[in-house]
Amino acid sequence: MTEIIGGIGVGRTAVVAEVFHVSPTPTLPDWARTSNAVEVESQTLIQAIAEVEAQFKQLIGTSDGSSAEILDALVELLIDEALFEEAVAYLEQGWSAAASFGKAADTFSELLSGDAAMEERSLDLQDLSKRVQAVLAGINLAIDIPSTGSFVVVAEDFSPADTSQFPASVVGVITTGGGPTSHTSIICRSRGIPALVGAKLARQLEPGTSVLLDPLGNRAVAGGLISDATPEVEYVPKREKPIIKVLANIGSFDDAVMAAKTAASGVGLFRSELLYLNRAQEPSVESQIHDYSKVFAAAPIGPFIVRTFDPQDDKPLQFLGLEPKASIANYRVLKSRREILANQLRAVEGARQATGREVWVMAPMIGSAEEALDFADLARQSGNFKVGVMVEQLSLITEISKLKGSIDFLSVGTNDLAQNLFNLDRQNLTNPELLDPWHPEFLLKLTEIAQAAKQAQISVSVCGEVAANPAFAVVLAQLGFSSVSVAPSEVEAVSVALRS
Ligand code: PEP
Ligand code: MG
Repeated sequence: MTEIIGGIGVGRTAVVAEVFHVSPTPTLPDWARTSNAVEVESQTLIQAIAEVEAQFKQLIGTSDGSSAEILDALVELLIDEALFEEAVAYLEQGWSAAASFGKAADTFSELLSGDAAMEERSLDLQDLSKRVQAVLAGINLAIDIPSTGSFVVVAEDFSPADTSQFPASVVGVITTGGGPTSHTSIICRSRGIPALVGAKLARQLEPGTSVLLDPLGNRAVAGGLISDATPEVEYVPKREKPIIKVLANIGSFDDAVMAAKTAASGVGLFRSELLYLNRAQEPSVESQIHDYSKVFAAAPIGPFIVRTFDPQDDKPLQFLGLEPKASIANYRVLKSRREILANQLRAVEGARQATGREVWVMAPMIGSAEEALDFADLARQSGNFKVGVMVEQLSLITEISKLKGSIDFLSVGTNDLAQNLFNLDRQNLTNPELLDPWHPEFLLKLTEIAQAAKQAQISVSVCGEVAANPAFAVVLAQLGFSSVSVAPSEVEAVSVALRS
């Protein structure tokens, strides 16, 4: 009997590939100080490093040429003397072996992160750091997805860090948790990897067997053929340009490059926090200027909208110094760390000047007109930008009229808006059907926002995931939204629908 697993599809391209189950990644213990003598901790650290080295050597023995070379280079980095000396400096301050190695790796990553060519090394260091800390905690971290072959990976959920490290052999993703607007979905969409999220029964798929991942059909079919996939509605373009502008959502340099190959008329949402996930220290203004300049220069022509840091539980920005689970995403968090926000805006201005791009800035999670005006003041003091805010909190909607003349544009973050409207957790949905964009309450809210913005004479766009649904994008245009911003992989389909 054919087994069909239901869920919520992400993307439009179906794939058939082998099922590969990934076990959950355990959380590493928090860094702590120890009363052990430095020599004792240092010995423990040496042993842990040796164990990770042995794990890699074993992998080298079973890898082919280029993989073996990469692993060799990793081993060299792992046993680097300067890295160990840096860790010893932390041991001498009383930190445990795990904390000391983690902190040393962070320090080195920070040094490497300004340099594009070394960015990969910085990621390697972070991975090694995680592995050494896991050995010290007795945790098995391996999510060894084979790099050759073609797999649909199945797990409870993936963090942005996990998804960003998928090998090219991952052609599809199925998660038992998550929802259409969880960050796994966003990243899969932006990388053009089809996914099925909230597929509660996905663990039933037999590892090693073939599965059809049919995102348009919101299902996975065990043993299904590609010819069984749900066909797509075809729009026939009748006009040269879309009736409203289509911009791209990006979170990295690679996304910017991908977006530039599409018909996107600019960047409508740059999730700037994705550049700095898990950084223990605030990136310096200089390194931010460097990073933003690189992304600006690669992005499609047109306005480039930088969304200032938007920390959430699954997008942790360690340098904000928030307790885990306390990173309730709202503007108050950033306002209380004003220097970090001011530094970011200064860096965005530096990159704007360096690249000559037209840059706009917007703040996430604004809860009131007062917060919006506070951000606008700071942004205008920091640089030459058009200034906007995201509409994601219900409390802002009734205050839109107060923004007349002070705010240049609004952008609706429907992912958080829908979550707030229905009181859901977008990472862990109990009622995924409430995130159906056609839900009448949700449509009413969008109508209310479009009308309020029109009255306040402020242009308003949508950059949440719903805009990537071609039919919905057409409805947004009818409601009065002046542009949509979608993942680079969706620009083409949405543009075609808006030209039909
Ligand atoms: C949103 O909430 O719709 C949005 C675009 O922001 P993010 O998904 O990054 O929270
Ligand atoms: Mg949001």
